[in-house]
Amino acid sequence: MQRSSCIFCRIADGDLPANRVHEDDEIVAFHDLSPQAPTHILVIPRRHIVSAEELTGDDAALAGRLLLVAGGLARSEGIAEGGYRLVTNVGTDGGQSVPHLHLHLLGGRAMGWPPG
Ligand code: 5GP
Ligand code: ZN
Repeated sequence: MQRSSCIFCRIADGDLPANRVHEDDEIVAFHDLSPQAPTHILVIPRRHIVSAEELTGDDAALAGRLLLVAGGLARSEGIAEGGYRLVTNVGTDGGQSVPHLHLHLLGGRAMGWPPG
């Protein structure tokens, strides 16, 4: 896939606007366009990886860093103490709508279980 045809690659490249809350050489985080909780942030690798299903052993450090960035954002956004949810949807049954790996960081309200 070309980066120009993936909305999250375009956001990572700065070609599409987003309300960014973190960026480093590997990872970008920004507010979800359609928030499902008072805090709803997406944490993505800059590299185009379709989903968690596509991760390999070579990506172990990157996958760990995605979690660490999400946890850091939970603290800086003030939702860590109350608790939060990290979700990554995979494929059709997982409800994934954007085929570029992302963690949803959701917080600021109590979450239900099981998920829909
Ligand atoms: P998924 O359904 O793939 O797990 O999550 C995709 C998420 O991306 C959805 O929560 C959706 O609201 C969000 N989203 C889709 N397009 C855009 C966009 O252009 N900008 C931002 N900030 N979020 C987007
Ligand atoms: Zn992409």
